[in-house]
Formats: sequence, C-alpha cells, structure tokens
Amino acid sequence: MHVTLLEKTDLTTRFIVEGIDAPLANTLRRIILSEVPTMAIDDVIIYENSSVLHDEILALRLGLIPLKTDLDSYNLPEKCECKSELGCSRCRVILTLDVKAEKGVRTVYSGDLVSEDPNVVPVSDKIPIIKLVAGQRIRLEAYAKLGRGKDHAKWQPVSACTYRYVPRLKLDYSRCNACGKCVEVCPRKVFAKEDKKVKIVNEMECILCNDCVRVCEMDPPAIQVSWRENAFIFYVESTGALPIERIIFEALKIYEEKFSEFINQLEGLFNEPKKS
Ligand SMILES: [Zn+2]
Repeated sequence: MHVTLLEKTDLTTRFIVEGIDAPLANTLRRIILSEVPTMAIDDVIIYENSSVLHDEILALRLGLIPLKTDLDSYNLPEKCECKSELGCSRCRVILTLDVKAEKGVRTVYSGDLVSEDPNVVPVSDKIPIIKLVAGQRIRLEAYAKLGRGKDHAKWQPVSACTYRYVPRLKLDYSRCNACGKCVEVCPRKVFAKEDKKVKIVNEMECILCNDCVRVCEMDPPAIQVSWRENAFIFYVESTGALPIERIIFEALKIYEEKFSEFINQLEGLFNEPKKS
C-alpha cells in the first residue's frame, strides 16, 4: 500500500491510496460517514417560543448546526456511567439560547447560542436559525451529545467523503491533429493547447466522462481514457466539527478495533475446550 497526499487544508484533503481494492476503499468511506462520532444537539427544552416556527422544526434546525467536537473530554452517552436520559457533565454540553426581538425583524444566528464549554461551540457563528419580529422571543436549553452518523446525519463529521479511480489517459501524438476540441469540451480542463499541440496537463482531474474521446476527430480516437484498478483518489471534507486528519485517523482506529474484536471472539470460539 502506498499513500500520496495531493492537498490538505484545515477542512479538506485529497490523497491517493494505491494497492487497495474498491471494497476496502468503501469501508473507509463508510466508517468515516457512519461511525466517527461528533457532537450535535439532541435534546431541546423549550421554555418559550413565540416565533412562527413550531418547536419541532426549531429543534431540528438546532440539531443540524455543526458543533466543534472535543472527542477526548466526552463519553458517548451509551458508554457513560451516568446512564441518565439527559446525560451528565461527562457526556453532554448544555447550550442556551435566549433571544428577543425588541423592534423590527431580528435574525437569530448560531452565534447567539451560549455554550457551557468554550471548546464545544457552533463551527460558524453565521448560521441563521430563525427570524423573529418585534415582541417574539425564544428561550431554550439545548443538550449536545456525541453520536454517530449511522443514527442521524447530523452526527456525520464530513459534508463530503468520496473516492474515485485514478484516471489514466493516453494521447497518441502521432495521430492527434491538434484540433483542440477536447480542450474545449473537457469540464475539468485536463487538456491544454501549447505550441499548436494538445497536451495532458491535469490528468488527476479527469472524471472519466469520455467527452474528449467522443469529440476527437480521429477514428479511432487519438485519446484513450482508462483507470487504474487498485488505486483511488479520496476526497474528504470536514463539516468543521473535527480536524480533517482526526476524522481519518479516528475512522482507521475504529476499523482496527472492530477487527481485533472479531479476532478475539474467533480465537475464543476456536480455542474452546472440546466437550467429550
Ligand atoms: Zn454521562
């Protein structure tokens, strides 16, 4: 296996993994989507809501606000010793919201939520929650907990997690008449015309759409589009809840834990003393 990093920012990363097959690539994708825990608002106690939005819709909107997650300080509710419905200080964070529109229309933003833990706050202050007109008020207490994407999409740590085959392009220069149609048609600007010659300048961006092959004036086309069987380009985009590298390492840790448990259980079964 060989991993090459193509790019990384605080929230996104793109890397190539060589030497794995599609089922393994998909396993990593699915663990990231459904198993890596993040914080999200799960219970809301509404003391006052004179807005036009029903309590349920308001609670749903609050749940969908991505929260910065502190994985090391909090327990998953099912693993916490407290076993209480609304959790304890080890498994939940309380955020309060108390906003009243004094005059005119006021938009309530995620930044109006006040968290008891400065490390667990909305990823952005500018997410609109609701609009209030003069005299309307919202007063509530929201309980954020760790959860997993398989239970509700609000707990997914990523807004995008994809993999695709590594493209392989071949351009037969001896037969290319440099008409430039492929340069124009390619949606990802894979080709460029330099010195009256068509060149492949961005092979990795190819999405295998084959448009370049279709517009090629040559018969058979001078361009061949294929892909490598055992190499994938991963693209992962964090919601901001966790740093991008933490999401990937956490997913691999979960994968490892699942398999070591599987091995342990099998060993236990196979080594059981035989009944006589
Ligand atoms: Zn607890």
